[in-house]
Amino acid sequence: MATIIPLRDLRSDARETELATLVRDAAGQPEAAGPIEDMRGRPLADLRISVTDRCNFRCVYCMPKDVFGRDHAFLPHAALLTFEEITRVARVFVGLGVRKIRLTGGEPLLRRRIEHLVEMLRAIGDDLDLTLTTNGALLARKARDLKAAGLSRVTVSLDSLDDATFRAMNDVDFPVASVLEGIDAAAMAGLTPLKVNMVVKRGANDASIVPMARHFRGTGHIVRFIEYMDVGATNGWRMDDVVPAREIIARIGATLPLAPADPHYRGEVAERWRYADGSGEIGVIASVTQAFCHDCTRARLSTEGRLFTCLFANTGFDLREIVRAGNDDEALRRAIAVVWRQRSDHYSELRTEATAKSPKIEMSYIGG
Ligand code: SAM
Ligand code: SF4
Ligand code: SF4
Repeated sequence: MATIIPLRDLRSDARETELATLVRDAAGQPEAAGPIEDMRGRPLADLRISVTDRCNFRCVYCMPKDVFGRDHAFLPHAALLTFEEITRVARVFVGLGVRKIRLTGGEPLLRRRIEHLVEMLRAIGDDLDLTLTTNGALLARKARDLKAAGLSRVTVSLDSLDDATFRAMNDVDFPVASVLEGIDAAAMAGLTPLKVNMVVKRGANDASIVPMARHFRGTGHIVRFIEYMDVGATNGWRMDDVVPAREIIARIGATLPLAPADPHYRGEVAERWRYADGSGEIGVIASVTQAFCHDCTRARLSTEGRLFTCLFANTGFDLREIVRAGNDDEALRRAIAVVWRQRSDHYSELRTEATAKSPKIEMSYIGG
């Protein structure tokens, strides 16, 4: 049986020391505000913030039940960044070029008064693209408050429209009808354009690809089909389980003709396709078969305030320590800039069956 490797055993002490030394050496030097680039010329433009490592689902590809069981130890409340701490760190990121913030987890709607955090983040700037990814279970209840608090839009994860398949994927017997209610409530509240994320796992839910495309065609909602990834070390990922984006497009295109569409902006992870009859668009996220590391502009802030520069990293940089030690924003800005400037991550370009087995942070901790 797979087990979770504790973060303290996962991370590389040598790497942590190297980063800490670089940050310490930069002390006293003022960090200019404005955009920064990493070692591969990629700007820092997006920030994903994990607000909880808990979830009410046990999706087979993310938090398998045999690993995340009843006795699983989630982070204690005191370890989590507070809303004030998150907002402060986010504001510094925005000063360094971040234009888009996504709240994630775990399940972000489980964090108490999440709409209050949205309100605080919105106060950073009206032009900030502020979004949230959710499994939709609590969305029908929360959509209006989230919109009123200033959320721009939502992405809802939904792996099948077939109730039995969906219940098997979330593994807590949660009905698909409730997620569809959440999607309707979000659309009514104006959290649009709404995206629907479907992780495709061969033999588990790939029969749902075409019905999913058909169901959302013409609604204005954009379904994004995601290749199943080897995130973490507990989901038992195998290359054979991946349905390549090319195959997904071919399967949909065989009954609903598609034409390629241009990306909206640099770093857009989804490859866009339009229905030839003008009834909307879909996207495919081909992180496994067509790596997009060359354009990856995303930083991730973990639930306990560690900065990760790649979804497949095993070492993060502890920003919470800087925040709680009473340092000013300049120290925070310098630390983030130093970490980003020495970033060279490109895991998806290197992935093999062997690297997939290497120890990595779990998705539910680092934030999807
Ligand atoms: N709980 C929320 C949800 O499910 O939308 C937010 C967190 S979840 C980790 C973020 C996204 O990551 C979801 O769309 C989920 O489907 C996706 N995801 C999780 N594990 C994955 C995997 N192994 N491969 C590809 N996508 C994955
Ligand atoms: Fe929970 Fe989202 Fe992971 Fe599913 S994908 S287990 S809903 S965090
Ligand atoms: Fe970005 Fe890392 Fe994914 Fe490459 S593997 S796209 S660097 S998160």
